[in-house]
Amino acid sequence: MKADTVDLLILAGTFEARQLAHAVFKASPNLAAVVSYAGIVSDLPDLPLPSRIGGFGGVEGLADYLRKKDVRLVVDATHPYAAQMSRNAAIACEQTGTALIRLERASWLPSEEDNWTGVSSMDAACDQLEPQSRVFLAVGRKDLQPFLKRDDLFALARMIEPPDYALPSGWHLELARPAQSVEAELDLLQRHRITRLVCKNSGGTRAFAKLEAARLLKLPVTMVERPKLPSTTTASAVEELLEMISAQLMTS
Ligand code: NAP
Repeated sequence: MKADTVDLLILAGTFEARQLAHAVFKASPNLAAVVSYAGIVSDLPDLPLPSRIGGFGGVEGLADYLRKKDVRLVVDATHPYAAQMSRNAAIACEQTGTALIRLERASWLPSEEDNWTGVSSMDAACDQLEPQSRVFLAVGRKDLQPFLKRDDLFALARMIEPPDYALPSGWHLELARPAQSVEAELDLLQRHRITRLVCKNSGGTRAFAKLEAARLLKLPVTMVERPKLPSTTTASAVEELLEMISAQLMTS
């Protein structure tokens, strides 16, 4: 075996990826596992496993990495909307004969008190906004562009790191991760007199408080549907993933 082989490559970028890294290390401290980040945010979490940062260079670059490091299993624990990375992982794993498991969080479902409209893209979300809306764009910095063409809007745009282009002067840029408390989200929505929320169906618990706040204020929500991803083996939770990883890598 080569000294720098990698048994497990975790494609990270989610809270679950972080949880998984800790769980893998606890279950098997000697497993050669690497956590990979796109490098989009600068404050990466402390992890017990080694990490690498930055794109691989498309399918070809990833396939090359998988071959060079003799990777046995790739876990795609990227965000449900990180479609490019998930597609690249599926193709590169197929090409190199590497096992792949994707973490697929369940989507959020509306309750009877919710007023959600599903749309298939950010462009469709933008076209659907009522004139003069005061909209909370909880979509991240990569997906704001379509909304810039609407000069009648006020937008509260929340993201972790600022975009590399200027936002319209009347907009409010909120540099923050999603708030974990409904009270904080209620305060934000009320302070900016928001009339509609636009967001992704990320699933999980970390970004749901805004939807509870919208429900309490009876605000309409535009829910941009998830991108379609290649079919592969999936797990819906970290515990299930860990069992699957154990079965493949920790028994021999
Ligand atoms: P994306 O559009 O699917 O990926 C764009 C490119 O970024 C990929 O082709 C790849 O570059 C690189 N990349 C993405 N994830 C990577 C990883 N874990 N390790 C190494 N390279 C990676 O993804 P994105 O929407 O930009 O998201 C980037 C990261 O932010 C992901 O890890 C994702 O989980 C996280 N994130 C995304 C969202 C979202 O709404 N999109 C929300 C929260 C967190 P190469 O082609 O050069 O390999």
